Amino acid sequence: MRLEGKTALITGGGSGIGLAVAERFVAEGAKVCITGRRKEMLEKVADKLPKGTVEVCSGDVSKEEDVKAMVDATVKFGGKLDVLVNNAGISMIGSITDLSMDNWLKTLSINLTGPFMMMKVAIPHMIKSGGGSIINIASVGGLRCLPERPAYCSTKAGLIMLTKQAAMDYGKDKIRCNVVCPGGVKTEMTEADFGQIGKMIGMETDAFVKEISLEMPLRRFADIHEMGGICTFLASDDSSFMTGAELVIDGGTAIVDVVGAGISGAVRRAGV
Ligand code: NAD
Repeated sequence: MRLEGKTALITGGGSGIGLAVAERFVAEGAKVCITGRRKEMLEKVADKLPKGTVEVCSGDVSKEEDVKAMVDATVKFGGKLDVLVNNAGISMIGSITDLSMDNWLKTLSINLTGPFMMMKVAIPHMIKSGGGSIINIASVGGLRCLPERPAYCSTKAGLIMLTKQAAMDYGKDKIRCNVVCPGGVKTEMTEADFGQIGKMIGMETDAFVKEISLEMPLRRFADIHEMGGICTFLASDDSSFMTGAELVIDGGTAIVDVVGAGISGAVRRAGV
């Protein structure tokens, strides 16, 4: 029960990584407010968790009035706000010349402006109650390029820097801010992303994911529940001296050099 007595707000908490983090936070004793655009989905999640542990608030992280409503709902529910997990995000495929202006701006507003607004509204509450922990969910795509994802990778790189800026400016207020950079995790987002590429190259999503995994040190994508532990650590006092840190949780993807992946792929295909 490492989060006993804490109140957390998780954006995009109705599915994927956000849902797994919410379940884990509740299991660790926290009161959690989950937010997202799909009210029904959020309510279904809340129904499965112990009564009184979860509040839901539907809304869009790219809309200022919704952001205020999410923070207000959390403070009303838990009496304070100790932990903010900026998890909501989208991925749009398309190189710079192919991506529409609308999709570029939409990605920016959800992946980067959303967390900015959430922090802007949440931080004064954290200061009031003597501190807090902010956990931003970026991606290895914020550290290295992914093909045809200028908007996704640029916003995630921006989120990594925004995390460090928040850590710098609010450390004096006992607010810690860290960023998690996951690699491949099996969720709706990866289904959609890899499904789209799989279709282009005539491969089923699962087979395509398996093929990519062969170049990863752990040879697999993560299960959503593997993101719960790291967020619990960052939310809890176990990480009390950690702020501004980038935690790469990617089965080793980011340590593999492209030449190294090319060599191991060629050796594997040759069956040596
Ligand atoms: P997901 O699609 O299941 O989760 C994204 C959540 O964000 C959904 O619940 C969705 O409803 C919500 N969301 C989207 N736009 C929103 C908006 N405007 N307002 C409020 N909520 C909104 O996918 P996921 O993989 O669980 O993604 C969670 C986070 O993890 C994202 O930020 C994503 O970029 C990041 N991430 C995922 C992977 C991966 O492999 N799955 C890897 C690296 C980073």
